[in-house]
Amino acid sequence: MSPAQKIALSVLFSVAMTILPLAIMSRVPGLGIPPAYWAFAFFCPAIGSYLVSRRLVLQSERLTRLHDELSRAHEMLKRAAESDSLTGVLNRGGFFRRMEKRQGAGGMGWLLMLDVDHFKSINDRYGHEAGDRALQAMAALLRGTLRAEDIVGRLGGEEFGIYLPQATQDLAANIAERLRYRVEETPLVDLEGGPIAMTVSIGMVRIGERAALRDCLRMADIALYEAKRKGRNQVILAA
Ligand code: GH3
Ligand code: MG
Ligand code: MG
Repeated sequence: MSPAQKIALSVLFSVAMTILPLAIMSRVPGLGIPPAYWAFAFFCPAIGSYLVSRRLVLQSERLTRLHDELSRAHEMLKRAAESDSLTGVLNRGGFFRRMEKRQGAGGMGWLLMLDVDHFKSINDRYGHEAGDRALQAMAALLRGTLRAEDIVGRLGGEEFGIYLPQATQDLAANIAERLRYRVEETPLVDLEGGPIAMTVSIGMVRIGERAALRDCLRMADIALYEAKRKGRNQVILAA
């Protein structure tokens, strides 16, 4: 109902509440109601209730608007608190909260732990700013390659976590390999227009419905370490 309709309804109700008793009284034999009384019974409640209800309706509209703005601001704050300011993907806390929630909702999934190879040398060679751009490009590449339901987070430094809900081992391995390949095939452009080559190592682990995340993380970490040890730029499945 619009504000004008609310005010009109309130005025109508007030007028009816005075006109109706007056109409009943006017039926009593010998009790004539002078026309001035009718006018009085109409205009007084109409003007009074118009002024009061208009104020109340406008006030409540304003409160509703403020409440909506507050809810939006709260939503934005919550999102900002969970996202990584450099890359725009989830931060570590946000990633694990989202992943736990998804795990709690049932079904198993796969966790990929991805780390940029020799990232320190990119910083050393092209500067910290280029390193930052490389991390941003990495996050964009991950988001662009993954499915909408997949969860991506920056776990810290140049390490990213990816949770693939409802994925079979074949699909997860496929996605991990596609990510590895796309990073290798998509060089970043440095300030002089030259290519900055990057590769990633990935450790992957199955996340069962009741699996303890701490253990899964440790296993993914070991698999990632194994990928580094074996020469980097590869995907290793946790034992
Ligand atoms: P590895 O292949 O073994 O992973 O080698 P690495 O050089 O990638 O790993 P290392 O842990 O030695 O170095 C990580 C580097 O990442 C060091 C740190 O300065 C850099 N780094 C961490 N966070 C950021 C960031 O936000 N921006 C930039 N530009 N660099 C970062
Ligand atoms: Mg690294
Ligand atoms: Mg690292």
